[in-house]
Amino acid sequence: MLDHDRVRADTPGCAPGAEPGQVFLDSAGSSLPPRVVLDTVIAHLRRESEIGGYRAANERLDDLADVKTAIGALINAAPASIALSDSASRSWADFFYAIPLAPGDRILISEADYASNAIAALQRARASGATVETIPSDHTGQIDLDALTALVDERVRLVSLLHVPTNGGLVNPVAEATRIARSVGALVLLDACQSTGQLPIDVTAWDVDALSATGRKWLRGPRGTGFLYVRPELATSLEPQRLDLHSAQWSGPDEYRLAPDASRFEFWECDVAARLGLGAAVRYLLELGPENVYAAVAERSAYLRKALPEIPGVTVRDIGIRHSGTVSFTVDGHEPIAVRDRLAERDITVTVSHAGSTLLDMTARGLASVVRASAHYFVSFAELDRFVAAVADL
Ligand SMILES: *Cc1c(COP(=O)(O)O)cnc(C)c1O
Repeated sequence: MLDHDRVRADTPGCAPGAEPGQVFLDSAGSSLPPRVVLDTVIAHLRRESEIGGYRAANERLDDLADVKTAIGALINAAPASIALSDSASRSWADFFYAIPLAPGDRILISEADYASNAIAALQRARASGATVETIPSDHTGQIDLDALTALVDERVRLVSLLHVPTNGGLVNPVAEATRIARSVGALVLLDACQSTGQLPIDVTAWDVDALSATGRKWLRGPRGTGFLYVRPELATSLEPQRLDLHSAQWSGPDEYRLAPDASRFEFWECDVAARLGLGAAVRYLLELGPENVYAAVAERSAYLRKALPEIPGVTVRDIGIRHSGTVSFTVDGHEPIAVRDRLAERDITVTVSHAGSTLLDMTARGLASVVRASAHYFVSFAELDRFVAAVADL
């Protein structure tokens, strides 16, 4: 069990005690960091201003190394298989663009796939003569495992799996889909941007080849942070598209040597303060106990999925069998943007997910946009009630 009073006291954005403050329901967008993250970032920026960025970083070498150790502990991977970056999209692309593609190769994407992933797939297909095909969803809305089985063959180079989409509560069956993809030798790249920090992640048990995630969403880290996991064998065999003196070593006048682990997917320069902040965010999550966090998130989204449909005119739009912490909905007669803006007048933060972010899924369902409410474990049930009452008042 989480100590709810403690996690709220640890969060500068939460109102103290019984005081009515904001209702923050956008951890799927950019969450409220715990104080330790804020303090870590600010303290490092201050230190850089005192002694310069190089000496300041040298003082924190152990903590910097621990960022990967902490992430590894969270997703069940070795630290050497983690590459830090500035966003999930960067990490996803770093892996994807390293995969050789030839004419006739097939790339499979998920119906709930994220626009950035699909755009990259289309760009590379155009350049290489590969094709991009969509894995259909089944009647529940999750990845159709039978259809995937029928679709795969040895020409499939990569399957892009979406764990949790940006536009709602769907949780895809990652382990099962991965088994099917790997049975024909395809690589599996898992977008876990919306699940890391709110659902259990186990890259080893799921046997995925790579995973991308961001810092600012459910992990409650700083903006401008993200990471890539790469299966150890691939981290020593794949060559990234772009290299620098950190990802490779200039080993002779005519030669270079790639870093012997996933750091070949990193560049040397980075926002050290943000990176330390990401480490603090992951350590904070590990201290709370990820299982406690996941349970608290599930409890809140289940509460909303029960309460919202009881309001006349409100339709919850979540699909699939298993659900995540993001609740998507529409309100008859109110554009999602208007709903967001009316709620913002009452200091309630939700966001709108537009069709352009998840084009295939939204088009298939005839939706132009949905309201997205994502309650992290620090949100109180009284705050959820305030949100539900405000939606009913529209
Ligand atoms: C937000 C999001 C991304 C992109 O994350 P960035 O850190 O902004 O690059 C990728 N996939 C999904 C499903 C997302 O929701």
